[in-house]
Amino acid sequence: MFSFSSFEQYQANLKNGTVSCVQAVQHYLNAIDENKHLNCFLEVFAEEALQRASDLDNSPRPGKLHGVVFGLKDNICYKGHKASASSKILQNFTSLYSATAVERVLQEGAIIIGRLNCDEFGMGSSNENSAFGPVLNPNDISRVAGGSSGGSAAAVKAGLCMASLGSDTGGSVRLPADFCGVVGYKPSYGRVSRYGLLAYGSSFDQIGVLANSVQDAAQVLEVIAGPDDFDSTALQSALPAIDLQPSKKYRIAYFPEWIEHPSIDPEISLQIKDRIKELQDSGHEVEPISFALSDFIVPTYYVLTTAEASSNLSRYDGARFGYQSAKAANNLYSFYQHNRTEGFGKEVKRRIMLGTFVLSTGYFEAYYTKAQQVRQQLKQQTDLIFNDFDFILAPNSPSVAYKLGEKNKDPLAMYMGDIFTVFANLTGVAAISLPVFKHSSNLPFGLQLLSSPQNEVPLLRFSHQMMQQ
Ligand code: GLN
Repeated sequence: MFSFSSFEQYQANLKNGTVSCVQAVQHYLNAIDENKHLNCFLEVFAEEALQRASDLDNSPRPGKLHGVVFGLKDNICYKGHKASASSKILQNFTSLYSATAVERVLQEGAIIIGRLNCDEFGMGSSNENSAFGPVLNPNDISRVAGGSSGGSAAAVKAGLCMASLGSDTGGSVRLPADFCGVVGYKPSYGRVSRYGLLAYGSSFDQIGVLANSVQDAAQVLEVIAGPDDFDSTALQSALPAIDLQPSKKYRIAYFPEWIEHPSIDPEISLQIKDRIKELQDSGHEVEPISFALSDFIVPTYYVLTTAEASSNLSRYDGARFGYQSAKAANNLYSFYQHNRTEGFGKEVKRRIMLGTFVLSTGYFEAYYTKAQQVRQQLKQQTDLIFNDFDFILAPNSPSVAYKLGEKNKDPLAMYMGDIFTVFANLTGVAAISLPVFKHSSNLPFGLQLLSSPQNEVPLLRFSHQMMQQ
């Protein structure tokens, strides 16, 4: 019987011959088959993954991710494979090249087992905006897995792959990690190349990692991070070597406005406060910092990301690639109109319209420019906080995983659920969700820790320590 606990232990077993990559892949193929009802995978590369596993079993030089079985969010390109971003408009689109992150994991011996379901183009918080149906939460199948990387989080939680890649524009790695109970890491903006990631909000998008432990996530990050000639926004400085031991006493800030937010489940608030007390008792300095801009975070995020999305998604017109309507078009305009009307889902259309509106003449200054100014202020205030503190500690979500259908008729309620996650993307800082809490409903929820781009290694070190407790 194959069982997985960490990359390290698995790779040690590969080395001493007690297990093979083929056995691992076979195990995951069976598990995927038994858990089809979760709707995590849009496609499984069974034959190919088995072939790759067999090649790796015979490879003389194992890479850093030798034999690690990955799932890939469906908005990350893998040459010769479909990438639909869970949208009808790209349903039959095949990638012409691989994302840099994919190239890098493959170079280090990873096996990609399939494409994972997500919210269409990453737009959503519950994975209910997928054209291919929602992902169910493995802890309770009547509940959402979180989004937009719902398939990536649920697949790791349900043991359908060892780790997965997701993307995080406003919490899409951390929120599903929180709802499902796995580790979700969003690197600093630019830490991982966006080349080959289907764009949603380019100044926010970042590829992230979902895994069972901080060690596994760190091992993936080491491989995928770093400058890339194909992405001019990738950070030029390399990530320092990740050493998870030892962790020291840190200075940590938290925002009382968040922990006492009117929308937060009192139990989440209470458990976070208890954790703050424990950290203080164990010698860390944990201090409240008033954060006056809190109320502007969600509106700023939704003005700027919809603006970027309206521009990024204008390429999907059905002319060069993507869905083409069967309806007769009598001019170019109606050709675009039919393709886009039928190809995009409701939420994507809502955002394209919102984004087009905030960029339109007469409203540009009032919305887009204003939101850019708020973003600038948020960045400045965040820099000031990180001059004095190593990390910010926060909740990920005001609630635990909610019931399927509970919020998806009310976009505003859904957007407000992003209140604690979008901050990291607006400011470009690194953030991780750690599955350290359990709600009385028996559902897991996470703790969010944020750091400056310079402090990502200490962030991982401290996160590792938190997971040991
Ligand atoms: N829930 C947020 C949104 O819908 C975040 C999505 C994401 O990070 N891709 O925009």
